[in-house]
Amino acid sequence: MPKKFYQLTRLQRIATLLAHKLLSVTDAHFFANNTGLTQERANQLVENQLTTFALPEGLARNLLVNGKLHQVPMVTEEPSVIAAASNGARLAATGGGFRTSQPQRLLLGQIILTDIVDVAATTAMITAHEAELLQVANAAHPSLQQRGGGARWLRVRQLSERELSLDLAVDVQQAMGANMLNTMLEAVATTLQAKWTMPILMSILSNYATESTVTATVDIPITVLATPQFTGISVAKKIAAASHIAQIDPYRAVTHNKGIMNGVDAAVLAFGNDCRVIESGAHAYAARDGQYRGLSQWQVVADQLHGELTLPLPLGFVGGATRLLPAVQPNQRLATVESAQELMQVICALGLAQNLAALKALVTTGIQQGHMRLQAKSLAVTAGAQTAEVAPLIVALQQAPTLDLATAQKLLTKLRQ
Ligand code: NDP
Repeated sequence: MPKKFYQLTRLQRIATLLAHKLLSVTDAHFFANNTGLTQERANQLVENQLTTFALPEGLARNLLVNGKLHQVPMVTEEPSVIAAASNGARLAATGGGFRTSQPQRLLLGQIILTDIVDVAATTAMITAHEAELLQVANAAHPSLQQRGGGARWLRVRQLSERELSLDLAVDVQQAMGANMLNTMLEAVATTLQAKWTMPILMSILSNYATESTVTATVDIPITVLATPQFTGISVAKKIAAASHIAQIDPYRAVTHNKGIMNGVDAAVLAFGNDCRVIESGAHAYAARDGQYRGLSQWQVVADQLHGELTLPLPLGFVGGATRLLPAVQPNQRLATVESAQELMQVICALGLAQNLAALKALVTTGIQQGHMRLQAKSLAVTAGAQTAEVAPLIVALQQAPTLDLATAQKLLTKLRQ
């Protein structure tokens, strides 16, 4: 039997991707020999730079999204995340994979006005000059309009008796858009101040990206969920029940969403995007009706398990760190992701795949069985195993009654005798 992808060595995996034309020769060479960021580039990225900090990158296999197969690079230090994502992707593919929808892709920014004497008059003044203010915004970053994007609309929200937020919505095209939008907002704020002496507190984009959401759905035949202990229908019902608990209990919802973000953050990093943007927006979205809830929902519909996840995902395909981190462009090509829109779709689907695998494990064998098997590798290294000792120590650990550091150290000492 040919070995599975995860059973191959790192170089064999790269050779396999090359043989299947999932990597070009140049990119295969890059992945085989990548030494990460140079100190010089790192020094250009941050202040007071001392060194670089490496994280592992692995591949979630065969994520089927809107009929297209994606190999998704994931950057994470947590064992079992990538295996779970691949497992979720495999289950989803049995039902034809993930479908996505995306109503729009606009980034919102805010200009906060305080100490307003007449809130109604100020609101009327701003809305009456919408066209002029959009023009000011566009003139501050004209290349965006030349690419087909630019400022689209504005609205005024009353925050208190004397405080307003002017929200500006901008089509940022293929960028994440934070810097572009901030430039535009500051230009509009300057005009408001200079022309109508409006009292401005500050101007910045909002990370609550409600105008940049994407929804992934999946329908999985119940039969494929069966395990040696449980029938498919009982697993499906338990997953639906687990999803319900995440809707009604914030303690469970946070952990449910952490599982989704395991996949989302790992891919966001691999594609050179800012995971703080995505984390803050996702959690705010999870509490949008006043109670923090699970971001995904699962239900049994006829003979299928239906899953759905909506996330605000203001991701960039260009700009930010995407051209500064050396692995990002090879990762974009490996994933065959060609636009910011496609990136949003793939990452949302990955989050749902991750969630499915976690829920299935939780309601069947429990999370520890699979997790600790992969955790054995980390334990072996933490216990001080040298490269050649890792594999035999993992085997010994897997047969041990307890899987902890003391056991790993004891077994390592025994192995060396
Ligand atoms: P950039 O400042 O890098 O702007 C995007 C760049 O991409 C521009 O130089 C633009 O060129 C270029 N570009 C090339 N092709 C396209 C295209 N098709 N569509 C759009 N732009 C294109 O990045 P962003 O404005 O996207 O800002 C993202 C960064 O901002 C991230 O690193 C983030 O961490 C950071 N940030 C985040 C904040 C937050 O979230 N609160 C706050 C502040 C910063 P041109 O100049 O010709 O238009």
